[in-house]
Amino acid sequence: MTSNDNFIPEIGNRTIHIVIDVLNDFISGSMACLHAKEAISKITERINSHPNEEVLFVCDAHPSNHISFLEQGGNWPPHCVKHSFGQQIDLAFYTCISLPAQRPRISNNIFEKGTHSDYEEYSGYNALNTNGITLGDTLPKKQHILVSGIATEFCILETVKDLIQNNHQVEVLHEGLAYVTLEGHKQAMAQMRELGAKIV
Ligand SMILES: [Zn+2]
Repeated sequence: MTSNDNFIPEIGNRTIHIVIDVLNDFISGSMACLHAKEAISKITERINSHPNEEVLFVCDAHPSNHISFLEQGGNWPPHCVKHSFGQQIDLAFYTCISLPAQRPRISNNIFEKGTHSDYEEYSGYNALNTNGITLGDTLPKKQHILVSGIATEFCILETVKDLIQNNHQVEVLHEGLAYVTLEGHKQAMAQMRELGAKIV
């Protein structure tokens, strides 16, 4: 199904901007991704120019023996170990966002995923905030959502799939994405378009 034609944003409905994995390890650390620095400045620019949008952050937060790490037989170098520098949200989201309400706030708009050692979790849909509520459960029905962050081929793609499957209207901020490979990024963009996401 190519449902771009059916994409009808609800007028007056406030967009929720979901920012995924803008964490030090994915920007400058053990899993630094392509286009990451540019993506960060585009995302902060977008947030500052849309002060009415609610911003939610999804963050990898792994235990040190996570199943996705090479030593545990996974595909990735150790990254985003909870409480490490690499797991922290890029400083720009604290210092360059004008409205405090749109910055990361621990008890409120930060959702963690990959927190169990034996479970790989690319999608942010079931990520939990400190109140134990999943991202999916905090979203109003048929919500208009903008997605940005890292990495296109993995956590962005899987989150977008879950959002669309749960009947949300999804836009993806093209310039606000970083990726592992350019080829993978392009394939994932095509796949998301095919699923009905609007690329903006
Ligand atoms: Zn991870």
